[in-house]
Amino acid sequence: MATLDNSKTWIRKDPARLDPQPNLLNYEATRAGFDWSQAWRMLDGLPAGGYNIAHEAVDRHVFGGRADRIAIRWIGKSGEVRELSYRDLARETNRFANALVKLGVAPGERVFVLTGRIPELYITVLGALKARCVVSPLFSAFGPEPIATRAEMGDARVLVTTPALYRRKVAGLRERLSGLRHVIVVGEECEGADDVQPWSSLMENVSADFTIAATDPEEAALLHFTSGTTGRPKGALHVHGAVAAHHVTGVYALDLHDDDIFWCTADPGWVTGTSYGIIAPLTSGVTNLVVEAEFDPQTWYSVLERERVSVWYTAPTAIRMMMKLGTDFVKSYSFPRLRFMASVGEPLNSEAVVWGEQAFGIPFHDNWWQTETGGIMIGNLATLDIKPGSMGRPLPGIEAGIVRRDANGGVAVIEEPMVEGELALKKGWPSMMRGYLHEEERYRKCFAGDWYLTGDLAKRDGDGYFWFVGRGDDVVKSAGHLIGPFEVENALMEHPAVAEAAIIGKPDPTMGELVKAFVTLKPGHAGDDAMRRELIGFARKRLGAAVAPKELDFRANLPKTRSGKIMRRLLKARELGLPEGDLSTLESDET
Ligand code: AMP
Repeated sequence: MATLDNSKTWIRKDPARLDPQPNLLNYEATRAGFDWSQAWRMLDGLPAGGYNIAHEAVDRHVFGGRADRIAIRWIGKSGEVRELSYRDLARETNRFANALVKLGVAPGERVFVLTGRIPELYITVLGALKARCVVSPLFSAFGPEPIATRAEMGDARVLVTTPALYRRKVAGLRERLSGLRHVIVVGEECEGADDVQPWSSLMENVSADFTIAATDPEEAALLHFTSGTTGRPKGALHVHGAVAAHHVTGVYALDLHDDDIFWCTADPGWVTGTSYGIIAPLTSGVTNLVVEAEFDPQTWYSVLERERVSVWYTAPTAIRMMMKLGTDFVKSYSFPRLRFMASVGEPLNSEAVVWGEQAFGIPFHDNWWQTETGGIMIGNLATLDIKPGSMGRPLPGIEAGIVRRDANGGVAVIEEPMVEGELALKKGWPSMMRGYLHEEERYRKCFAGDWYLTGDLAKRDGDGYFWFVGRGDDVVKSAGHLIGPFEVENALMEHPAVAEAAIIGKPDPTMGELVKAFVTLKPGHAGDDAMRRELIGFARKRLGAAVAPKELDFRANLPKTRSGKIMRRLLKARELGLPEGDLSTLESDET
């Protein structure tokens, strides 16, 4: 490491000494000469015409002589292992595609998966894509309410789940999901539920051959839900052509090589777990490690060591938890094959980047993207010097800028370095969402001319590195999960004692932010500890532990604008002892 300008410490890279040679050897030249047709040329295209994600991820390796390569190596919660070669994966996904056809599920209909990280999830996603259905994987730690909202909004036709999740989270919702025709359960029989079909019998009675029909690259493929400040979650729709961006970003930003063992720790219920936990590693033909267990440092270090992971994609909350346990603990393991570590989802503090070097001998490479962009847009790349704390530089094919919105709906690009503005991306990369489900207007508002406005605040420095400043809205990022305040507030409001509720993200040293609720109670209810516990428990049951508030305070009133909107920004400023900012729209106050 060398100390350079502005007393910032860079981590210098010497591409000539990296082994294997990074895919993106010369950033400037590759960026300058890049156009998206190069990414398409890295793929095969369907024999029947067009592009289908599942063909690029699975079948082309079988046709291309890599059939016996391990595609998915799955490690179950109790340490059991299951491997699927590309040939196995092709066969199983063919079966699932045939099963959907046999059930009468048509192309374009939505298949939801709620299983946790088991092999059948991967088979469902890729099999449904072969059948040209639109797939939506859900986070299995969601409570019944977020599941119902998403399945309702997405008009789920098929749901693949497990008996336990079915009983705990889905059975009570069936009446709300009027469009849901088929519930397929993986595992033992689902006692008492005669409206579900066992996965095993469905898969037994179908052919292992399937020919993917011609697929227009603009055909919808994936539906990922994300959170906004107001209203219901947003359903971002992505198309089959997104695979060109999934692939090229896996090659350039994660530096995937032919013989890599790759581990993405994200759950496919979040976009990272699909784009990089399923698609990008498989299009590159590497072995994709899937670990079912949740985070535990000892298990994770053992997995990295024993499985000889070479490229690892994880998240800041987990890194910070590992840091807490110290460097010596990491050093009791050895990771001779580990050559590239990346992180995404929330700001990665500079200490964490550097800690990677101290503990593992290589730094963490932070990168930035969001559900809407479908793939990595900005990143610290294998050959680029790292400025710890920065998100890195735009990938080939991506033009990023810092802009200021004007009163007429346009934007002005801020050219001066280190001036804060909104992070914007020039339209035109293949994995850009094609719409928010049922919300044309909300989608339209994301654009100004040629620019897609990300909603994040950032700066660009004189060397072209981007620095995250914060979110431009009230959405909470907790342990990498984007949580819409509205969804949490609604769940609290369902409690008979609650009059009003507001949610803020409170900075937390490990989780980035934690969900904190402020509640006013109806007359006759006391805001005491018993009520606090009751409300947190109530929200947990509906929303799941990852989404429910961790802290809750009572207030006599909540601050509101003249138009009646709760001012979460002001609640947050007060909670954190920060300046209260512009209060000209404040109507009523809590004090
Ligand atoms: P999601 O759509 O759930 O993937 O969340 C996307 C949001 O997470 C972005 O808009 C950012 O606010 C945040 N985010 C993702 N990656 C980073 C990063 N590397 N640094 C800071 N924030 C990030």
